[in-house]
Amino acid sequence: MGVEFTQQSAKLFARAKELVPGGVNSPVRAFGAVGGTPRFMASGQGPYLTDVDGNQYVDLVCSWGPMILGHRHPAVVQAVSDALAHGLSYGTATEGEVLLAEEIVNRMSPAVEKVRLVSSGTEATMSAVRLARGFTGRSKIIKFAGCYHGHVDALLASAGSGVVTFGLPDTPGVTGASAADTIVLPYNDVPAVEEAFAAAEIACVITEACPANMGVVPPLDGFNRRLRELCTEHGALLIVDEVLTGFRVTASGWYGLDSVDADLMTFGKVMGGGLPAAAFGGRADVMAYLAPEGPVYQAGTLSGNPLACAAGLATLIACDADVYDRIDASALIIGRAASDALAAAGVPHRLQRAGNLFSIFFTDQPVTDFASAKTQNTAAYTAFFHSMLDQGVYLPPSAYEAWFLSAAHDDDALTRIAEALPAAARAAAVTLAAPPARRA
Ligand code: PLP
Repeated sequence: MGVEFTQQSAKLFARAKELVPGGVNSPVRAFGAVGGTPRFMASGQGPYLTDVDGNQYVDLVCSWGPMILGHRHPAVVQAVSDALAHGLSYGTATEGEVLLAEEIVNRMSPAVEKVRLVSSGTEATMSAVRLARGFTGRSKIIKFAGCYHGHVDALLASAGSGVVTFGLPDTPGVTGASAADTIVLPYNDVPAVEEAFAAAEIACVITEACPANMGVVPPLDGFNRRLRELCTEHGALLIVDEVLTGFRVTASGWYGLDSVDADLMTFGKVMGGGLPAAAFGGRADVMAYLAPEGPVYQAGTLSGNPLACAAGLATLIACDADVYDRIDASALIIGRAASDALAAAGVPHRLQRAGNLFSIFFTDQPVTDFASAKTQNTAAYTAFFHSMLDQGVYLPPSAYEAWFLSAAHDDDALTRIAEALPAAARAAAVTLAAPPARRA
């Protein structure tokens, strides 16, 4: 399939730029890193997206993770319309919140005893860090370069995702005061963490369970366990951020593959099923510090919204063993096919996997941290991305993101991806000889 027409997307983008900074409501959507016209999507069905010009794409972004069942999964649509028939928001407690909390605790036991629902991953990590500081009475936090935990002031330093995509150094607007208590360390570097603990009193270490916002960079064997030991030894809390990996890589997220007990965990994406729901949770004694039980304040007008809870619960219930088996198998097939196509075209690359998450770094260096992730050739990715897009496959518009598959990616969808890969790999190879000009 050739994607030839982008007039409606281009027109909408021009109008959007008049009204919204950069024309988008989240930076990476603007295609800034890859150039060209960002596609305005009109609908989704199963593994496909259709844009306002009528072009269809196999979706390898899946709304950046939530659409693990594909678009418009019947059980999720039904659950949301059932909830909708009763009302949109009450600003009171509802049964749906209890059901969603039970589902999360059941899957994440014993690490998570209690949860609090919020509306975004950013709120979840922001609240978890505040709670850790309130509980320990300490200020300093450790985060890792290349890990992204949402746009929380104290967590934006050396962040992955859109921050690295746009090469933003330190975000203006984050005051020295709010960043002063953040210690940023290289990922996978145990001696650096040991030194930081020796030098300062630490409230908490926050880490992605398995980083996937600088591309996929799995923790080296025992890294998360060593963080656990150091936190316990020094009276600090360990916050494991599973916003991206949670309920995606297994029924219990990365915890299902690497069962290190955190004190607090954060969730989002899949648990909202495509609507705004997220959560943080963990040890009951730590969560008891949260208002109204305890002194640490945290709240939200739309927290636990009935539609979001219904979408999230229906998604989690539908995510059975078959769903994970399917996504695991598809991820193996597509990761291998992409790597084979790049190898055949002579493009140096590293395929990095973490369960069913994977990404491809356009480098021949081993990638274990943010510095090595940045050795990749983003111009090669840009050419690869545009060739895939032109052939009807929607990849993340940034070299620093994971590729997301869903259980709806059937043989037809996988074949369409596989067939597009050789030409995309050849397009990437051309840039190695002479980097092309960026698209307007
Ligand atoms: N934490 C991780 C690991 C994420 O990947 C993200 C978003 O990509 C967030 C937190 C922030 O979530 P949200 O975009 O819902 O605020």
